[in-house]
Amino acid sequence: MTPDVYLAELQAPMSTSSRPLPAVRPSVRKLTGELVALRRDLHRRPELSWQETGTQEVVLERLRAWGLEDVRPIADTGVTALVHGGRPGRTLLWRADMDALPIQERNDVEYASTSPGVMHACGHDGHVAIALGLARLVHDRRESLEGSLRFVFQPAEESAGGAQRCIEAGVLEAPSVDAALGLHLDADEPTGAVVVMAGPAMAAPTAIAITIRGRGGHAAQPQEGIDAIAAASQVVMALQTVVSRSTGPADTVVLTIGTIEGGERHNIIAEQVRMTGTIRTFDAKVLERTLRRAEDVVAGVTAAMGATYEFSHYTSCPVLVNDAGMTALVEREARAFFGDEGVLRRAPNTGADDMACFLERVPGCYFFLGARPRQRSRRFPHHHPRFDFDERALTVGLEFALRLVEGYLSP
Ligand SMILES: [Zn+2]
Ligand SMILES: [Zn+2]
Repeated sequence: MTPDVYLAELQAPMSTSSRPLPAVRPSVRKLTGELVALRRDLHRRPELSWQETGTQEVVLERLRAWGLEDVRPIADTGVTALVHGGRPGRTLLWRADMDALPIQERNDVEYASTSPGVMHACGHDGHVAIALGLARLVHDRRESLEGSLRFVFQPAEESAGGAQRCIEAGVLEAPSVDAALGLHLDADEPTGAVVVMAGPAMAAPTAIAITIRGRGGHAAQPQEGIDAIAAASQVVMALQTVVSRSTGPADTVVLTIGTIEGGERHNIIAEQVRMTGTIRTFDAKVLERTLRRAEDVVAGVTAAMGATYEFSHYTSCPVLVNDAGMTALVEREARAFFGDEGVLRRAPNTGADDMACFLERVPGCYFFLGARPRQRSRRFPHHHPRFDFDERALTVGLEFALRLVEGYLSP
């Protein structure tokens, strides 16, 4: 779509389930076509976690061309850059994640992925486009700002670990970062709306791995063996009671077994079964109790069946907690820009995002920007092979991001 056609579409009447789009300033409007082109370019060549070298090159090249300061790679495949305001003041971090997912795209669009089995199915292509637009416009008007804006184009959000590596590489230092902001596009909410939540907003993800060992043998003489598949089946069912029977009704816990693998052949008693799963929690004490109860269940069930087990777990990022003060800033700007009806609240999301690692160290707010496709037939959840988002959210997101930066750096 050419920018002109795109602009015409921007002004087209809404369907009834849409929200009116808030007006954006001329400098943002002028970037509309470029933002869409950039997003589509990134969408065509998605890259998995820790492989974002092409994306890194695009980001480095643009930031250098626009004259930002301290433009350099960080954490292998990430990028950081700095905008120094005209007057001294606080330092704000803007974070955008860059990676795609191991999914074969099934959208029939001219900007569909050209990498077999890899797809931007979470909207991170949009996050990069918005952050680049923000870098350009903030850099252009840096003289009017008090303080600095640090950008981090973070690799490996989906596999987790990217945020942590950026922190270890010093992205929160020199200058020392005072606060952090970032957004995630949200294809479930209408364009022209934003979801802002104070306090715990996204879960801590804990991966679990369980290995159950029995004793192999001939399937026709089960009494001679210890069937790891029979034990594992009971373990899967019994684990469901950790949430239903060992968790208080007011606490939120998810426990899902996602993979199960074992056995060699139809007539052999399986010696070993390996399972992996995830636990999602919003509170460290609840996580501790859930892990303890889960292991108790695995230990008890396998012992009863004569099998043995190994249980391991890894929590890749903490609960994402939005700071009250920074959330108040986002909410104030959101009400001014989107109107009261455009500011939505939701229950904490059992999804996880390693933006949590930044927010554990500095106060900040991570919010969701509505980007629901206008055609009902094109609405699919994030991580779906037909996921797409309403590209009008790019300009809306850029304007809102600018307002947040101005709200924080020119109080
Ligand atoms: Zn995702
Ligand atoms: Zn995502």
